[in-house]
Amino acid sequence: MTYHQDQNNVIIVGGGLAGLTAAAFLARAGQRVVLYEKARDLGGRAQTQEKHGFYFNLGPHALYRLGEGVQILQELGLEFKGHFPQLNGVLIKNNQPHPLPFQPVSLLTTKVINWPAKWQMMRLLAALPKIDPAPLTSLTVQDWFAEQGYSADTRMYLQAIIRLATYTDDIEHQSAGAAIAQVQRAAAGNVLYVDNGWQVLVEGLRRRAEAAGAIIESGARVTAIELDSQQRVSGVRLADSSTRPAGAVIIAASPAAAHMLVGQPSLIDPWAKAAVPVKAAVLDVALKRLPRPETTFALGMDQPLYLSVHSAAAHLAPEGGALIHTAKYLNSADPDPELAERELAGLLDLTQPGWRAQVVEQRFLPDMTVINALIPAAQGGLPGRPGPEIPGLAGLYVAGDWVGPTGMLSDASFASAKQAAYLAQAYLTQQQPLSLELPSIAVKSNRFELA
Ligand SMILES: Cc1cc2nc3c(=O)[nH]c(=O)nc-3n(C[C@H](O)[C@H](O)[C@H](O)COP(=O)(O)OP(=O)(O)OC[C@H]3O[C@@H](n4cnc5c(N)ncnc54)[C@H](O)[C@@H]3O)c2cc1C
Repeated sequence: MTYHQDQNNVIIVGGGLAGLTAAAFLARAGQRVVLYEKARDLGGRAQTQEKHGFYFNLGPHALYRLGEGVQILQELGLEFKGHFPQLNGVLIKNNQPHPLPFQPVSLLTTKVINWPAKWQMMRLLAALPKIDPAPLTSLTVQDWFAEQGYSADTRMYLQAIIRLATYTDDIEHQSAGAAIAQVQRAAAGNVLYVDNGWQVLVEGLRRRAEAAGAIIESGARVTAIELDSQQRVSGVRLADSSTRPAGAVIIAASPAAAHMLVGQPSLIDPWAKAAVPVKAAVLDVALKRLPRPETTFALGMDQPLYLSVHSAAAHLAPEGGALIHTAKYLNSADPDPELAERELAGLLDLTQPGWRAQVVEQRFLPDMTVINALIPAAQGGLPGRPGPEIPGLAGLYVAGDWVGPTGMLSDASFASAKQAAYLAQAYLTQQQPLSLELPSIAVKSNRFELA
């Protein structure tokens, strides 16, 4: 393989959804792109492992139908099949299952919350689509609850809904604006479980990028970003100590990885220090048969627990089998993985009694990073998130689920990757000035155009 010494190469560090998305956009825009992924397999946290005909995502994965991810995948021409989850299920309080009160009628008849909470929830559900999250970005969820005068039951129920939509169990710090925007997104458009798992998205992006000319190398770890004397990117160093020249580099990895790669004082230092990862413990279970086919979903109200039979909606299991994802939303005060495994197995005992006799395969992952950085009110919510540009370092960009003012979870990875690709392309072709907000970019005739 030959590497051109000219400065028009864009190097992308990381072959997860963000890196692959940036590679696809830039290659389509005519840039010479090389992507390095340190792991043997592409996909990062969007990988799916197939075992005995069951497709295991790394814990529960759902695409927000109205999110930037779906929009960008469509823009890139990817084909995948997604299905709405079947929320036939239960809300669990005091270890007792109650019918899920997600609809107005079930909300009025439920015994899981008291009457004042029912009225507060009815009012909130009616008002939800009209709430403007923008003024609430710097308010914590906890302070927003207090401001609204919500009762203990309302808070507990709302907290469960916010955990479900954002994976975040930290109302003391989480931005109310970001949380409400995500709940609105979920309520308005629902989510999609993807047939054969998220690897389909990874492979689709890889094919799109390679078809447009990107070179993708896995098993290749980048160890440093090379900068010239004017703090402009000049290339990267690989683990074998060789260097590769580049006119622009996109780091599509965690804030800690970006900090390590830049290796000198920069704005990435405070970004990496401020990033508090959002974590989950997950127990993924493949069963020969589902003991209770009528219960496909469970959400803890007084415990941060989740269960969903993803195969009830999407093709993720062989005929008759079931693929269940369970998760415990972790907060920093919750470091006991063994306890999480017992709690998740207990949730299965409660909702799918007899499941243990049906196990084909099960996998417990105690400490998964769901999002690289919580969205804190103290940093001004989504608009306060860093990047993709790194002030002071020309030609270097970051992308990922901790970057940019748009979207949460993988939607942030997709959106920031597109934004970083746009900025790198503009930097290399000297188009100025640029807005840091996600531009509406239409890709036509292999070129970026502002729509
Ligand atoms: C349990 C769980 C549940 C989730 N559920 C959802 C969900 O329901 N909906 C949703 O939208 N999102 C969900 N997510 C989040 C989603 O998976 C991530 O936001 C998304 O996959 C992140 O993609 P990324 O490319 O930004 O980062 P990553 O997937 O982390 O990719 C980064 C890549 O960079 C590579 N890398 C790092 N350093 C280097 C280096 N020095 N050299 C070369 N390569 C390097 C890594 O190996 C990795 O492959 C979930 C995540 C988890 C863990």
